[in-house]
Amino acid sequence: MKAGDEFATRLKAYEGRRAAVARAGRDPVNMPMIRHWCEAMGDTNPAYSGPDAIAPPTMLQAWTMSGLVGHTGRTHAYDDLLGLLDEAGFTSVVATDCEQEYLRPLRPGDEITFDSVIESISEKKTTKLGTGYFVTTRMDIRVGPDLVGTHRFRILKYAPIRRAGREQPSQPDRRQKPARPRPVVNRDNAGFWEGVEQHRLLIQRCTGCGTLRHPWLPGCNACGGPDWDTVEASGEGTVYSYVVMHHPPFPAFDPPYAVGLIELAEGVRMIGNVLGVPYDKVRIGLPVRLEFQEYEEELALPVWRVQEAEGMQGADT
Ligand code: ZN
Repeated sequence: MKAGDEFATRLKAYEGRRAAVARAGRDPVNMPMIRHWCEAMGDTNPAYSGPDAIAPPTMLQAWTMSGLVGHTGRTHAYDDLLGLLDEAGFTSVVATDCEQEYLRPLRPGDEITFDSVIESISEKKTTKLGTGYFVTTRMDIRVGPDLVGTHRFRILKYAPIRRAGREQPSQPDRRQKPARPRPVVNRDNAGFWEGVEQHRLLIQRCTGCGTLRHPWLPGCNACGGPDWDTVEASGEGTVYSYVVMHHPPFPAFDPPYAVGLIELAEGVRMIGNVLGVPYDKVRIGLPVRLEFQEYEEELALPVWRVQEAEGMQGADT
């Protein structure tokens, strides 16, 4: 077995291990913390005040925080995993993202407990920061026996690229061009990306009030309704606004290129690359038509091709 495989196996052994067990929230869900949160966020939603107040769902993690006294109930598994990565040279860490799911509202008086598991450790990945591993932990938050929410937290533990010295080439090798970033597919937008795979652009439609929406969301901003179906976009649109990307030069892309905010004939807007004219000829109001562009053999993305200026065809990427 190669050394790299052996290391990957050692990392994988941490998947499923507990990072924290059966801990209790430091305080019950309470109005003062809710009030401070809403003030800090500028959130005046009436659902978060008054006798029937609920806690803002995004406060989920706040109820699990232990303050300056530090953590109790934490297992060694998470520290051991980070130590293993440190020893192998992946000494830097950056938090990359978090995902939360809400199963029921939390209300003042609710007393939460939670535990945490090391859910996954990625393959070795190369990023702009350096090469390393994404480590995802999942916290399950309960009131009594009921799961009320989950909080996934992801870090990149990486070996930083050394910027001093001249031994590293300053120009990336084109033959080693990294792959385009893949779409982040989650429960809320999975239907959109399933449509894209079939070369169909699906717009979410509220079945309560008929309002179309994009990007995909769990509920309707117009009426609050949770139920939805989809309509397939005709593919006609116009450039509502755009930017031309020059900098920073993401390695997977070839700047300069134009990114449009496209207003679809159906009324919703979405972002996509504008093709068919040189980047500096993109203008607000240009009519565009949907295409699906294949990238790297297994990634199809919706793009927008300008529908006039025949003489300029072929200047796209
Ligand atoms: Zn609605």
